[in-house]
Amino acid sequence: MSSKIHIVGSGLTGATIARLLHDQGHDVSVFERRAQVGGNVHDFVHPSGIRVHSYGPHYFRTNSEAIWAYVQRFGSFFPYRAIVKSFVDGQYENWPISAAYLRRIGAAQYLNTRISSPAALPARNFEAAALQLMPVEVYEKFVKNYTSKQWGIAPRQLSADLVKRFEVHHDDDPHLTPGYRWQGIPADGYAQWMSKMLEGIKVHLGVDYLQQQAFEPATYTVFTGAIDAFFGFDLGRLHYRGQQREHEYLSATACYQPCAQVNNPALENGAHIRTLEWKHLMPTAQQAEIHGTVITRETPFSPQDIDQYEYPFPDRINQQLYQQYRQRAQRIPNLLICGRLGEYRYYDMDQAIGRAMMLVQKQILPSLSANNSRIFSNLSYF
Ligand SMILES: Cc1cc2nc3c(=O)[nH]c(=O)nc-3n(C[C@H](O)[C@H](O)[C@H](O)COP(=O)(O)OP(=O)(O)OC[C@H]3O[C@@H](n4cnc5c(N)ncnc54)[C@H](O)[C@@H]3O)c2cc1C
Repeated sequence: MSSKIHIVGSGLTGATIARLLHDQGHDVSVFERRAQVGGNVHDFVHPSGIRVHSYGPHYFRTNSEAIWAYVQRFGSFFPYRAIVKSFVDGQYENWPISAAYLRRIGAAQYLNTRISSPAALPARNFEAAALQLMPVEVYEKFVKNYTSKQWGIAPRQLSADLVKRFEVHHDDDPHLTPGYRWQGIPADGYAQWMSKMLEGIKVHLGVDYLQQQAFEPATYTVFTGAIDAFFGFDLGRLHYRGQQREHEYLSATACYQPCAQVNNPALENGAHIRTLEWKHLMPTAQQAEIHGTVITRETPFSPQDIDQYEYPFPDRINQQLYQQYRQRAQRIPNLLICGRLGEYRYYDMDQAIGRAMMLVQKQILPSLSANNSRIFSNLSYF
């Protein structure tokens, strides 16, 4: 029997769940607060013809054949393997740090003796964990100030778990994520790709589900917005970091920097954390036709506007608050709160898709078949 399902949010989590349920014959409606679908992977084309990622650069990568097959249903990808540099001591250095840099500073012993799996290291905080991974000189120049810009507090106050996102390369491969089998960017852009993912599905744009009371009741609701907003912030607000983005079109500059992303860890070079040059994220043949270049400087801040929430704050207090909201959400039948805002967790795009696939199989479909009688009416529990 087909069920009436409301999906709140049209980012990768909501759109993947909507696609899979619609494909199985369920009656799915998507509600999106923004004027466009796609959540934070949205992009747009600047008048110069340069494609800009609205919420920061998005490099797609996966090792999962199933996820790679899924994403290609909605458009082809051109090969793109990200290269990131850090501007340190007046030079563009590879990031993650390469073997050549360690040799240059006389720290080659880190290549053979250091443990590369931070998960195995019981460190008390982020700084201690990072110093187990890399020489103090690398930490001071590349990581310490970058981290305090990103989070607005000293690295010692951050959770050791955060170091799982840092790597030291033990070779000279300049790519950000050489370990992934499939890497690329949708050839027609993320916005078009996300529209294809939602093709044939009812999508209501410009609708904040939490403000709207007039819907027909659903048999099941998937909410991919912020979990604290769902409960009216009544236990307090979860802390996020976001980025203020300052775009600049340089009409007389063909190329501003050597790659799409240059990190700016040094405090004396300004508060911005990185500079993006979008042209590098386009196929080479298209780049040649463009006049000028668009750059974006990103400066971290603590947003109050939910729409600007980007990175969940990596500390114990926020994790505990999230767990309190989560326990409440789990007590509400026929409701699933998920995705990066719903689970207060950073997911790469492939992880968001993989998790959405798993939730459909293991949680949503079994709930739908087990319970077709109980109706979750929008906000009727509060
Ligand atoms: C700066 C940055 C860079 C990133 N770069 C990469 C990268 O290079 N590679 C990679 O793999 N991943 C990257 N990611 C991760 C990627 O953005 C996420 O995996 C993806 O956005 C998760 O999708 P989601 O659907 O869970 O959340 P979102 O994309 O945030 O979607 C949630 C949607 O719900 C809507 N919504 C919220 N509340 C309501 C409401 N009340 N009513 C209606 N609609 C609502 C929102 O408007 C939004 O559209 C990056 C993330 C950030 C922050």
